[in-house]
Amino acid sequence: CGIVGYTGFQDAYEVVINGLRRLEYRGYDSAGIVLDKENSSFEVAKTKGKVDDLVAISENLVGKSHVGMGHTRWATHGVPSDRNSHPHLSNNGKIALVHNGIIENYDTIKIMLTEKGFTFKSETDTEILVNLIQYFMDIDSSLDFPTAVRFALNEVYGAYAITVMHDDFPGVLVVARLGSPLAIGLGNNEYFIASDASPFVEFTKEAVYLEEGHMATISLEKGVDIRTIKDNEKIVPHVQELKL
Ligand code: GLU
Repeated sequence: CGIVGYTGFQDAYEVVINGLRRLEYRGYDSAGIVLDKENSSFEVAKTKGKVDDLVAISENLVGKSHVGMGHTRWATHGVPSDRNSHPHLSNNGKIALVHNGIIENYDTIKIMLTEKGFTFKSETDTEILVNLIQYFMDIDSSLDFPTAVRFALNEVYGAYAITVMHDDFPGVLVVARLGSPLAIGLGNNEYFIASDASPFVEFTKEAVYLEEGHMATISLEKGVDIRTIKDNEKIVPHVQELKL
């Protein structure tokens, strides 16, 4: 029921965990975090329970990375459990995704992916989306990561706010929203993502609220690139000054 993401120069673990605490009021049953850094694979920790329970199993991740994202889950598909907690990884382990909302047509996509050889570790609707992104990259190796996310989103319906990371694209966060809120905080050489501005308001007062049907690719190198999910039409960001 909450998403926090970060790319910048601070300790991503601290920013994400403190951000998840700010979103605790939204209610949740599980929490998780994934960090990425160059030349190493994802570091993932997730558990049923509270952010404190997550901290208890993940303190070894302090100071490990400047890029990461976290999630608090309000279970809709699959019981609250460690396995069903987000983030979810794709079968090849290269893509990590957190999701708030519901993918309504997950069952038909799950059947299609199972026929292609994909396996699933959780009962969530979310896990089909991360594997669908891998599927599009598998069948066309020239496809870039944000385009694969866009293709996958055009196959699903339902409600979502998502943040996605790819191990081969360290420092890049792809976000999208349809029906669930997502805000991007614009800092000085750092970017924040969150379900509302409260996790990053202490760091920056400049924010872009992602609009319905839009996605954004965020990196320190290229900034924030916003597109429509349907047609890949470029959108000029509307930057707001937070008065919190
Ligand atoms: N539908 C997803 C799940 O059950 C996401 C739930 C949420 O919004 O936290 O895992």
